[in-house]
Amino acid sequence: MNTFEKFTPPAEGERIRVKASDLQVPYRPVIPFIEGDGIGPDIMRATRRVLDAAVEKAYGQERKLCWYEIYAGEKAHEKYGEWIPRDTFEALRYYSVALKGPLTTPVGGGFRSLNVTLRQELDLYACIRPVRYFEGVPAPVKEPWKMNMVIFRENTEDVYSGIEWVRGSEEAKKVIAFLNEEMGCTIRADSGIGIKPVSETGSKRLIRKAIRYALDRKRKSVTLVHKGNIMKYTEGAFRDWGYELAREEFADRTVAEKDLQGTVPPDKVLINDRIADAMFQQILTRTDEYSVLATLNLNGDYLSDACAAQIGGLGLAPGANIGETVALFEATHGTAPKYAGQDKVNPGSLILSGVMMLEHLGWEAAGKVVIAALEETIRQKKVTYDLERQMEGAVRVSTSQFAETIVGNMKGV
Ligand code: NAP
Repeated sequence: MNTFEKFTPPAEGERIRVKASDLQVPYRPVIPFIEGDGIGPDIMRATRRVLDAAVEKAYGQERKLCWYEIYAGEKAHEKYGEWIPRDTFEALRYYSVALKGPLTTPVGGGFRSLNVTLRQELDLYACIRPVRYFEGVPAPVKEPWKMNMVIFRENTEDVYSGIEWVRGSEEAKKVIAFLNEEMGCTIRADSGIGIKPVSETGSKRLIRKAIRYALDRKRKSVTLVHKGNIMKYTEGAFRDWGYELAREEFADRTVAEKDLQGTVPPDKVLINDRIADAMFQQILTRTDEYSVLATLNLNGDYLSDACAAQIGGLGLAPGANIGETVALFEATHGTAPKYAGQDKVNPGSLILSGVMMLEHLGWEAAGKVVIAALEETIRQKKVTYDLERQMEGAVRVSTSQFAETIVGNMKGV
């Protein structure tokens, strides 16, 4: 049983269970959701409307998502005086699969990002971001349809692990003294210090997920992206551990680029690696040669936004943060505070994150209903302001109208 201190348990639905990393999904699963700050309520409302309609279209009354609101961010602070109540972690652990709106992170000292806190506390070590083109969306490149990549970004280590000391602090002084006096470094006394841990465990579990995904979805390659020419024992090690893992655990189903003779056998996934700066060129110049990318935390953050920009921006870029048992699906953009409560922004990113969630549940048919209806809506050029301002002859619709148009375009399966 779950033991909530403050939350009332959901009124309907059953819990999803995870047994030996397999999901057991009931027909009426409880799906916790965090509405989010800023534009969060608008896009969450639209997303739930679309997902509910798609599930009904695909499965009639037989299946239903039983939404259960849990709290983080400003709403949690207003209601419970805490930014993330303990019950939120408890609910995410207990129910395993959840949808999340964006949360505000004030810039500067004293306030840890709530998003980073959630990922670290729940050990959601893989950030998965599929990036594909939707026909008709204005994009800055000539051939945006060539982009169809899935980025697996390590989520818990690297310079994002939150181990930092401010310039002049006792901790910073201590670390600088140790490095200068005992390790022969020459760090300036007025430096802030950040630590970049990259472990074999953390790297291999992320790369394992990426390779399994590529094998399950019949993707052609997994590219290890790194800056190992400069940071040998962190980024370079990430690459080495990736090849080692492929050899040790997937020898019969993968082939390393250096061992390749001729073309890749149809039953195998190619494992290659690219240096991060070159990779930013490759996504533009050789877009369709890449399929699944496995990256460290910082590289993946930059790279996934760059890939999303290529297909028309963050409005249609979904994401998920996944650990061994908990999966949190979320929009990749932020709270866009200037548009809060205006029923204006594009809910596409959260809707597509919802599609990833449906696929995670094994409810692919409902996911397909959403994708087909979204494609049709874009073809009809009934889009929110961000797309309308770039599409000739488009009709601008609100967040809620966009959702209703998608629902209206849904066809049975
Ligand atoms: P942002 O919220 O992503 O917004 C930046 C701009 O992107 C917006 O002004 C808007 O562009 C466009 N945009 C974002 N979402 C859109 C949508 N759904 N539809 C259409 N356009 C959209 O980035 P930010 O202003 O840097 O960050 C605001 C807050 O969000 C910060 O506190 C940040 O920490 C937080 N954040 C949270 C998450 C998360 O929860 N996962 C992720 C990133 C940022 P135009 O002005 O051109 O219309």
